[in-house]
Amino acid sequence: MRLEGLHHITAITADAPRNVDFYARVLGLRLVKKTVNQDDPTVYHLFYADERGSAGTDLTFFEYPGARRGRAGAGMVYRIVWRVASEEALDFWAGRLADEVSGLEREPGRLRFEDPEGMSLELAMVETADEPLVAQHPEIPAELALQGFDHVRAYSGRPEQSRRFLEETLGFEAAGETAWEVRGGQRGSFYVYGPPPAEVGMGGAGTVHHVAWASPMEDHAAWRERVAASGARPTEVIDRFYFRSVYFREPSGVLFELATIGPGFATDEPMEHLGESLSLPPAFEHLRDQLEPVLTPLPDPRGARAER
Ligand code: ZN
Repeated sequence: MRLEGLHHITAITADAPRNVDFYARVLGLRLVKKTVNQDDPTVYHLFYADERGSAGTDLTFFEYPGARRGRAGAGMVYRIVWRVASEEALDFWAGRLADEVSGLEREPGRLRFEDPEGMSLELAMVETADEPLVAQHPEIPAELALQGFDHVRAYSGRPEQSRRFLEETLGFEAAGETAWEVRGGQRGSFYVYGPPPAEVGMGGAGTVHHVAWASPMEDHAAWRERVAASGARPTEVIDRFYFRSVYFREPSGVLFELATIGPGFATDEPMEHLGESLSLPPAFEHLRDQLEPVLTPLPDPRGARAER
């Protein structure tokens, strides 16, 4: 039983329209699902990914309108890293992002910057045999596009306390003192710790809420059992409609999820129209008439393109 690398990463935005503009228009990801937070259906849960909504590319945001900025601290993910193919791609992105972001830092092999709410992002030139998972965007040539997640970095003051759980329970493979590879039959990614800052972390806009690792559908229940047997306290399996989820904290405090690869985002709308209209899981469909007027109006990135 192996996990297939990252499934999705979920963060928090206080400004959903700006979030759509940045991730869809600027970074060129596809908004593959516009749905609501299942714990509070009056606000969005937005999903950005490659063209097909593949596991390993999916960055999602809970919308908390008016939330204050958070800051990453011990036990939190503090950076998201995507793969790109070449230095040429990094040069392209350095140019494209120059007027769009703050904190832009170009180094050999990588480009770092912040999203509009201060979340730390990085593009890294990575040699890998994994399939590039890209979204289509008229201003971004496919060979320069983001190709899916490479890794996340989390703050831990005592990474050793997580080693046994990561390696023996979750099957992560050590890839250095504070880095692990999570690789299945199809795909892999990395989990890396960095030393935490002195200030205590604070959830809020521009911070990562949790990170999800990909499980084949048929292994999911067994993964939950294995996590429970280790002494961690997994939730029950929760049906998120687009995938099934189990949540628990790893010993360094980072909130992990194990999410199934499938059923996927084309479950309730056709692949060619993903994310264009509001999707409500069946349990929320009866609320549509009440929800549509209260949800924040959002730009339609591909519609705006078509009109030009
Ligand atoms: Zn999740």
